[in-house]
Amino acid sequence: MSRSLPRSALAEPSPSALRAHMEAALAKGLVAAGRGQTTALIPDLRAVPPEKFGFSVALLTGEQISVGDTRERFSLQSITKLFSLVALLQRDPDAWDEVGWEPTSHSFRSLTELEERGGKPRNPFVNAGALVVTDRLKTLAGDGFLPTLQLIQQQSGNAKIRSVPSVARAEFAHAHVNTAIAHLLANVGRIQNPIPQLLRNYFRQCAIEASTDDTARAALFLAQKDQHQVVLSFEDRRRVNAVLLTAGMYNAAGDIAYRVGMPVKSGIGGGIVGVLPGVGTVCVWSPPLDETGNSAGGLVALEEFSRLARWSIF
Ligand code: GLU
Repeated sequence: MSRSLPRSALAEPSPSALRAHMEAALAKGLVAAGRGQTTALIPDLRAVPPEKFGFSVALLTGEQISVGDTRERFSLQSITKLFSLVALLQRDPDAWDEVGWEPTSHSFRSLTELEERGGKPRNPFVNAGALVVTDRLKTLAGDGFLPTLQLIQQQSGNAKIRSVPSVARAEFAHAHVNTAIAHLLANVGRIQNPIPQLLRNYFRQCAIEASTDDTARAALFLAQKDQHQVVLSFEDRRRVNAVLLTAGMYNAAGDIAYRVGMPVKSGIGGGIVGVLPGVGTVCVWSPPLDETGNSAGGLVALEEFSRLARWSIF
């Protein structure tokens, strides 16, 4: 005879209970946000008010729960690497061989690691891998930026989502490290398009702005567990979630797997999106970052939420 599990052992799907957990987690996250600093890498993002905090959950049932600044748009930055990878896999399921799938203990902008590995990116979420993804998209779709924007618009249901030209330009003006990465890749034949064009496409992609409500909805296809995937094949959905778990939080992925236990992707705009397969997605946004480049408050809020709501894959 099968015994049912006690309710406390299951991931919480009830919207009213989730809202209470989100509010408690946000309060804790706000305190931690005071210990972080907005990114120094992109001047336009340094000036974002540090007290902003948005927390959204989207469920496979179609319900959405929003707490805080969930309609304000923030710069998705590296969160877009998740969507560009999916846009590429839709066109080329063999792209994994080009971008890799291993975690790293190096920084996401590491030149040393790329050199040591003969110019092969470690995974699609370090900048080397993300640049190869954008380059391949440009080759296959004629534009390295639009497929990613369109995927986020379609999946979120918000056609107004845009890239912010001033953010993309500001990053282009300070692009020394990303330019060096692109040249190292080109030196071993891993880039097919002219580097200035590739970088413009990549910075436009990173400068896409969306709210936490939009972003949680846009990632919801990653939580679907049925075999008949519309956005991504069953196999690739499984692989993308696996690489998000092991490499989605820069070189802090092990710490996050331990503390949160969900596939997640962060960006230096202060956003983090997480996936609980079979249940739904979560997106938090709090601009100040910790020393690993992840949202300081967002991470604490996510850790508290996963504990209270039992949102963990383990
Ligand atoms: N546009 C940033 C870069 O390429 C994205 C960094 C991030 O969010 O991790 O450096």
